[in-house]
Amino acid sequence: MALRKIRTLGDPVLEKVAKPVTEVNEKIKELAYDMLDTMYTANGVGLAAPQIGVLKRIAVIDVSPEGNRPIVLINPVIVSASGSQTGDEGCLSVPGKAGCVTRPNEVTVRALNLKNQEIEVKGTELLARALCHELDHLDGIVYVEKVEGELRDVTLED
Ligand code: ZN
Repeated sequence: MALRKIRTLGDPVLEKVAKPVTEVNEKIKELAYDMLDTMYTANGVGLAAPQIGVLKRIAVIDVSPEGNRPIVLINPVIVSASGSQTGDEGCLSVPGKAGCVTRPNEVTVRALNLKNQEIEVKGTELLARALCHELDHLDGIVYVEKVEGELRDVTLED
């Protein structure tokens, strides 16, 4: 595994639409493990491939407090969404900032996993928010476009 450089706001790669993965091969697995490594090292709860400069439809998420429940999503699509939640959001590509975004409170995503199996991930609250946020990255959308009010400066909690 290797750490990848996280691209930050202003990098044009973050505004591009990522391409579907055509085959879940060893290169894709290596990429996904690098993304997890990079996400955990940066203390993030999610990372999408465009954030490390790779325009492929892959996202990794782990919203567990222990950081031991990684979810790898390849070619994810939202198949249902309901409810709404409004709350703070941050992004590894927008360091030191947070802003308020409204998202669905419950979403179901269909994707492939690293074994090339179709999976369905149902998330509420933080997981639903993370799913929406990461899937947006695959379409070139950074959450700052959706912030209600101002982006704020935040300091690290620990
Ligand atoms: Zn992000």
